[in-house]
Amino acid sequence: MLDQTTSITDVSPLRDALHGPLITAGHDAYDSARQVFAASVDRRPLAVVRAAGVEDVTTTVRFARERGLPLAVRAGAHAFAGDGVVEAGIVLDLAALDDLEIDVDGRSAWAQGGVKAGVYTDAAAEHGLATGFGDTGSVGVAGLTLGGGIGWLVRRHGLTIDSLLAAEVVTADGELVTTDDERHPDLFWALRGGGGNFGVVTRLRYRLHEVGPVFGGMVVLPAERDVLTGLVTLAGDAPDDLSMIIHAAKAPPAPFLPAELHGRPIIMATFLHAGSAADGERTAAAIRALATPIAEDVRAMTYLEIFALGGPGPDRAAIAVRNGFADAFDAADADLVLEHLATAPTPMAMTQIRVLGGAVARVAHDATAYAHRDREMLVITGAVVADVEAHPDAEAWAGETAVALGLPASGAYVNYLSDDGEATVRRAYPAATLERLRAVKGRYDPENVFRVNRNVVPERAGR
Ligand SMILES: Cc1cc2nc3c(=O)[nH]c(=O)nc-3n(C[C@H](O)[C@H](O)[C@H](O)COP(=O)(O)OP(=O)(O)OC[C@H]3O[C@@H](n4cnc5c(N)ncnc54)[C@H](O)[C@@H]3O)c2cc1C
Repeated sequence: MLDQTTSITDVSPLRDALHGPLITAGHDAYDSARQVFAASVDRRPLAVVRAAGVEDVTTTVRFARERGLPLAVRAGAHAFAGDGVVEAGIVLDLAALDDLEIDVDGRSAWAQGGVKAGVYTDAAAEHGLATGFGDTGSVGVAGLTLGGGIGWLVRRHGLTIDSLLAAEVVTADGELVTTDDERHPDLFWALRGGGGNFGVVTRLRYRLHEVGPVFGGMVVLPAERDVLTGLVTLAGDAPDDLSMIIHAAKAPPAPFLPAELHGRPIIMATFLHAGSAADGERTAAAIRALATPIAEDVRAMTYLEIFALGGPGPDRAAIAVRNGFADAFDAADADLVLEHLATAPTPMAMTQIRVLGGAVARVAHDATAYAHRDREMLVITGAVVADVEAHPDAEAWAGETAVALGLPASGAYVNYLSDDGEATVRRAYPAATLERLRAVKGRYDPENVFRVNRNVVPERAGR
């Protein structure tokens, strides 16, 4: 039992109760321990707990709850809002909980709550297997999964949550609960899209899919209206084997792009075709038919290669993002995207379109807390600045571009949200979903211990 007589902000009793390290201000590792991917976020927690096991998770949750301290839970620390760190509270860092058990015959895997998508994907690929996570290896599987998970297999196998079989969760009262379709089904429903609102997920069990050689890669095309609309149509009409991410972006100074294009708008179609190589070739030919490619790298490849296509990416970035769903993308939208790109305040600006449908849409909209099953595409506007001081400019540009495209009124994918507040949460969850989430939250976290996130206010708190 933790000593109740110490001051609320005295974390020394927690240090004594933990197996893993507790890092406070003044410690050599304090500044690196409080860093998150979002470089514009600079918060000073009372302490960072590097959990060594489930017991440390339980101890930390109880400690924070007893003292009413804000608790940030992090796996890969990639939340755009910087939710992996909190001012004057406790950070529970799960990075050391990185065990992965792959059951090749059973086509499933248990991943601990701190496992990164790249580590999981590498290990599964050794057996020709995969669970579809996002497009970036350093993202935590836990954070990504709890919001939904949109990756390279999205149209074939659905969202990441559609491959989630079970989870182990430390709830707000410090109990370890196993949940799946049969056990605590309300909690299992809420975890699949409801974010980190319901507890600390210490293990996740996923279905593994056989993923043989795939066909895919990237085609760089001129920044033309018809190219953009043509790609969206092509990706939407294609069989589920095709998943595509379309970028309208300023050309990076990459050696495979002509120097005169660097910093100027281009369109990139990155795709994975999980069917036959011949069908994949046909997709590539259809893309090339839209315009003569500026550059391309498409071929038969492994799933691992396409997952690693963008390289490891930066450890941190001062990034601004907005997102919303759309059901149509016409010439006027394409013009808006390209016009706004031309005025971006940074060379690293983009609008990204992820065409959904396929297996995502075959799951009932109320089967999981991710309810946007029928939306045709996710549209993300984003800008990265080299200097944190310029972050407000990136925010302004991403926001204005999103408004021009009508995104604020079109629902949102919780994993790309960086704003706080009830209006934001209402964009992520339709009214009936939010009501159900609030009821589950009221049962599992009535005091709102897990509130450093896109917060679902518990029913009984009655907001
Ligand atoms: C570079 C980049 C690329 C991305 N690509 C994709 C993509 O392709 N597809 C996609 O769908 N998303 C993508 N995302 C968004 C990503 O899914 C979210 O940012 C996600 O929240 C990151 O998870 P994390 O564990 O890395 O982050 P964290 O900041 O560690 O966690 C995010 C939140 O999830 C919760 N959480 C994390 N771990 C746990 C846990 N074990 N138990 C309980 N709650 C937990 C907490 O509320 C936490 O605040 C990308 C983000 C970035 C920055």
